[in-house]
Amino acid sequence: MEGIHQVQLPLPFPLRIVNVYLMRDGDGWTIIDAGLNYPPGQAAWREAFNRYGVDPASIRRIVLTHAHPDHYGMAGWLQSLSGAPVALSAGEATFARAQWHSDSRAHETTAIFFGSHGMPRDLMATVAEDIASLRLMTHPTPVALTHIPAGEPLMIGRRVFVPIATPGHSDDHLVFYCAEERLLLCGDAVLIKITPNVGLWGWTHGNPLAQFLASLDRLAELDVALALPGHGPPITRFHERLEELRVHHAERLAAMEHAVGAGATAYEVCTAVFPLQELTSHQMRFAMAETLAHLEYLAAQGRIEQIEHDDGQYAWRRCIC
Ligand SMILES: [Zn+2]
Repeated sequence: MEGIHQVQLPLPFPLRIVNVYLMRDGDGWTIIDAGLNYPPGQAAWREAFNRYGVDPASIRRIVLTHAHPDHYGMAGWLQSLSGAPVALSAGEATFARAQWHSDSRAHETTAIFFGSHGMPRDLMATVAEDIASLRLMTHPTPVALTHIPAGEPLMIGRRVFVPIATPGHSDDHLVFYCAEERLLLCGDAVLIKITPNVGLWGWTHGNPLAQFLASLDRLAELDVALALPGHGPPITRFHERLEELRVHHAERLAAMEHAVGAGATAYEVCTAVFPLQELTSHQMRFAMAETLAHLEYLAAQGRIEQIEHDDGQYAWRRCIC
């Protein structure tokens, strides 16, 4: 697309790459998503600046779809180079401050949360270490965050984008839609080849899978010729992909409901559904959160129920109704 460059930044885990976008904005540039801050990420940004002739001082804005570390992590570094404001939804800004800026204990609370759902102790320790090390890759954090209200049009160059709330992958995720060009900057709301992670974490609001499926319904109303995602190739068969994601989650819900049977912890369901021995600890963390999101959804539908044991451990069983 004229005036839009996709930049692929490296990630030190199996996802391997996060796509970010450099967009012409008058005589300057707007950046969509920032990448994870570690030396290979910085080198990739510098190479992109050279390739496209970007003077960092001409970066006007750093816009983020959401505040996961692979999208948020280099926002502060880019701000320190450019002086540009960092803009994202108010909810994601609150999440970022709590999770990455402060002396967050999120790594420990997440491990404890997973432990209460049956995760073994050694894996809990690895989960805590992984999250703590990711947190360091979001530093330096931006000095200030600007909020983007959903629905309030954003001009980037001559294009008008409408930010649309698409919770599910993260609580307050935004996509940016340019109706005139049928173009969507979709962050991690829709991906091709892999499915966006929909996880229940210690900090997630309510029922993330219900929110994700509602976001797919909202996105289905848009006329999209091209969607530019946060991971993987551009999406040209957007509506077909939305349908595939719906089918994927329906199948996974059925598999998890079956795995719950007469009683199981979330970790037992997770090991029944995912090939855990093939996964890294990073992937295992996502598998566990994904399992919990599906169990929460099944419980809200009255298909399973949660049991709390005296020792504070949780399990699930199918409802006999
Ligand atoms: Zn994400």
